[in-house]
Amino acid sequence: MLMIFIVVLVGLIAILFIFRKKDVDRNISEFPLKWREILLKEVSFYKKLNTLDRSIFEERVQLFLKNKKITGIQTEITDEDCIFIASGAIIPLFRIGEFYYPRLNEILVYPEHFNTNYDLKGEDRDVLGLVGAHGIMNGTMILSQKALRQGFRNAKDGRNVVIHEFIHLIDGADSSMDGLPEVLLEHQYTIPFMKIVKEEIDNIHQGKSDINPYGGTSDTEFFAVVSELFFENPRKLEKDHPELFSILKKLFKVNENY
Ligand SMILES: [Zn+2]
Repeated sequence: MLMIFIVVLVGLIAILFIFRKKDVDRNISEFPLKWREILLKEVSFYKKLNTLDRSIFEERVQLFLKNKKITGIQTEITDEDCIFIASGAIIPLFRIGEFYYPRLNEILVYPEHFNTNYDLKGEDRDVLGLVGAHGIMNGTMILSQKALRQGFRNAKDGRNVVIHEFIHLIDGADSSMDGLPEVLLEHQYTIPFMKIVKEEIDNIHQGKSDINPYGGTSDTEFFAVVSELFFENPRKLEKDHPELFSILKKLFKVNENY
């Protein structure tokens, strides 16, 4: 009994911490027309929203951009890049509430893929995005501009590096980036979620799954990879992995018609 109480209490504190709104500069003006055109043209999640939800989405885009620093490294950042980054931050938690990732200070945009030494010229440049909670990467996200743009322009391929990296931050909001997003998981779904994750990772390892094999490298990557697919191509995930789709719907609190 005491254990349940402690678990619930820790959960509540984590939720309060993750959704705290203090320190957010809310001084914004009218949403720029040019930004709306980008959303309508490139962000399929936004396009599917009704008028009221679109205005909520737009306000969150503005607040995110007002409160986060985005810096191009050896590249020019466009309005489109900024809208893509903000959208990737907002989409996963859109139905849950406002959240501006208090532990994230800056997003660095590299022109191309990079390697694990943050090197743009060295070997093995296969990293599309990175987010860190420790050491020199504390509070920083790095994104490949090329991958960032591809993520939104190929709306149905199930790949979106921005959503992927923000999912890692949501996963880590309970202090452990372990593929178990305690801030989203209601107690009764924890065991079923862990069971599905194990089964699906086993299927990837046995070559019996069409999920991006990178998801088989760890529970953390699995959660990020399937969340990308959930937000990019929900119909495919629903058709091929109905149980997983159903539990992700509960996690992200999207409605029946999603
Ligand atoms: Zn990852």
